[in-house]
Amino acid sequence: EVRVRFAPSPTGPLHIGGVRTALYNYLFARKHNGKFILRIEDTDQARYVPGAEIYIKDSLDWLGITPDESPWNPGSVGPYRQSERKPDYMKYALSLVEKGLAYYAFDTAEELEAMRERLTAARVVQPQYNSITRTQMKNSLTLPEDEVKARLASGEPYVIRVKIPRKEEVRLYDQIRGWVMVHSSTLDDKVLMKSDGMPTYHLANIVDDHLMGITHVIRGEEWLPSAPLHVLLYRYFGWEDTMPEFAHLPLLLKPDGNGKLSKRDGDRLGFPVFPIDWKNETTGETATGFREQGYLPEALLNFLAFLGWNPGDDRELFTKEELIEAFSIERIGKAGTKFDIAKAKWYNEQYLRAKTDAELAPYVQVSAEKEGFQVSGKTAEAIAALTKGRVSFPAEMWQESRFVVVAPTEFDEQVAAKKWNEDAVKVLSAYQEKVDSFEGEFDASSAKSLLESTAEAEGIKLGKVMQAVRLSVTGAGAGPDLMEIFAILGPKEVAQRIRFALE
Ligand code: GLU
Repeated sequence: EVRVRFAPSPTGPLHIGGVRTALYNYLFARKHNGKFILRIEDTDQARYVPGAEIYIKDSLDWLGITPDESPWNPGSVGPYRQSERKPDYMKYALSLVEKGLAYYAFDTAEELEAMRERLTAARVVQPQYNSITRTQMKNSLTLPEDEVKARLASGEPYVIRVKIPRKEEVRLYDQIRGWVMVHSSTLDDKVLMKSDGMPTYHLANIVDDHLMGITHVIRGEEWLPSAPLHVLLYRYFGWEDTMPEFAHLPLLLKPDGNGKLSKRDGDRLGFPVFPIDWKNETTGETATGFREQGYLPEALLNFLAFLGWNPGDDRELFTKEELIEAFSIERIGKAGTKFDIAKAKWYNEQYLRAKTDAELAPYVQVSAEKEGFQVSGKTAEAIAALTKGRVSFPAEMWQESRFVVVAPTEFDEQVAAKKWNEDAVKVLSAYQEKVDSFEGEFDASSAKSLLESTAEAEGIKLGKVMQAVRLSVTGAGAGPDLMEIFAILGPKEVAQRIRFALE
């Protein structure tokens, strides 16, 4: 059975890149009838941010990619928060110490700093605690056994480090990048257990992926440098046979392609890089989300799927089910993907237009209500029909058509200066009377033929006065289909607005 996991650290709002990672895991799991697991990696207490966890949950729920197993919906391999799995980690770290594959280290911060200075002075490019330097430091490989025991017994602080082999080619196969080769001399003896008794990311991540039966690790490219260490850990634990497959996803790049997409790019260029609104209750720091900006979840999902993956043909619109069907790791690219907000907007427009008027009506009603206006379901639907082809976001439907409910009291002066003339007044006066006494169904086509015949009777070309007609009823020189607007307003209201404009 395929089992994949999304393993975010709750250190702040989930970045849109993290959402893409979650989505790819979700699609892969669904495609293979497997399980999609959410594990909260909260072992770094200092970086824990309250609210970040629930933010992750809310974001995934909103997008419709709710995990099959999570802290809120546990399966049989829980707990799903690493902070609640603490007792396990020490046990596994000690098993490596026993096998001679990890060791206790007692070095103080000062001693570590002194080592770094010494190495830097000797022009070592990357000073690290490794197969060479560990021989000069205070650890269970250099101290006599009884001293190690005494130090441990006295409660002296220690960490447990992994013992990296001195000369070895570590190989790993990445499903996206192919074979990756790293020489062990470039790796350091990473801390597995910290002096506070908490595991580091590396230890906890490997132990949990193993215990949770993870078959594929799909995560961001920034974790590729850690992968060789992870491969060594699988070997040290004797879990090579069930080691997951790795797939490291390409980076999300700034719109201009220069470097990694960051929160600051969003702020600078005016677009969100987070799924939903965020507020840090402690610091007050906030960030805007796609949801609150008016992105539809299915549009954002479709957009995100294409940030690094493509179906191999030119289709662009995919429902979630179609994405599941089409998705494969083979079709994920190696190169970073530019974040193109114009494309996100395009997707939103497509999904907005595909909705029925009845589905969109509530958006219109909600926007109107925020400004204190009650709009009937029927009018809201009519407004949706009128505007959905012209807008990118649901809230714009109301913004584009507010005049339907609120008769204009002011008129665009520039348009008036150009278009409000004797001919316009003639046509409008005559039309207003005819409309007022109109019998029958006042729909777009009857409103139009009435207007045409009025202009003709006055001997005036309709095209010349059309903008003035629009101005009199809507207050603006441009907008949605005017005859549809007339139909929504009804003859009495149209006549009354024209009279007001003529006064
Ligand atoms: N906790 C890591 C993160 O925040 C998980 C990386 C991984 O998937 O292995 O991204």
